[in-house]
Amino acid sequence: MIIRKKFRFEGAHIVRNCTSQRCRENIHGHSYEVEVFLKPDRSPNNLVIIDPVLLNNIKEFISSFDHAFALWNMESDEVKDGIYRINTRVAEIPVSPSAEGYSLLFSFVISQMIMAAKLADTGGEVKLHAVGVHETQSGYAESLVDDVSLVQFTVEDIKFNEGIKREWRDKEWWFRLLNVNKL
Ligand SMILES: [Zn+2]
Repeated sequence: MIIRKKFRFEGAHIVRNCTSQRCRENIHGHSYEVEVFLKPDRSPNNLVIIDPVLLNNIKEFISSFDHAFALWNMESDEVKDGIYRINTRVAEIPVSPSAEGYSLLFSFVISQMIMAAKLADTGGEVKLHAVGVHETQSGYAESLVDDVSLVQFTVEDIKFNEGIKREWRDKEWWFRLLNVNKL
């Protein structure tokens, strides 16, 4: 059994390693659709219940990228300074902000969230199967949970600026996640 939850956000970026010159040299945006695929952790005979706290945290995490600039942390200081100067909402991330980068980043963070929920005993009986990110009508990337084991970054490498953080309903969820990552 696969359970699918859909989320949406409007995001801006520059993708330096993009094949198209327009894409790698210009700030532009997309209407993203994110599909999170979860699987029952045990026998699906009983009703699978996804903890609403976990779902809200996934929603809060993805909406942190909404109307935000996704800034690759390998950009030059000059670009970074300019982006921070003109945007209220900036998410600095350790992957190039392509659909592939987003799907890997989201898979990693959501798998950490599920682990945190399990430690708090509120996770419900689910595990991550995959995260798919639709960037355009024809462009889609999906990261499977096995890809998460190849990740070279940590939750600490993702930096949401104050403009994003101040809109979080639960101000502590990210810090709880940072602490789980240190275990
Ligand atoms: Zn783009």
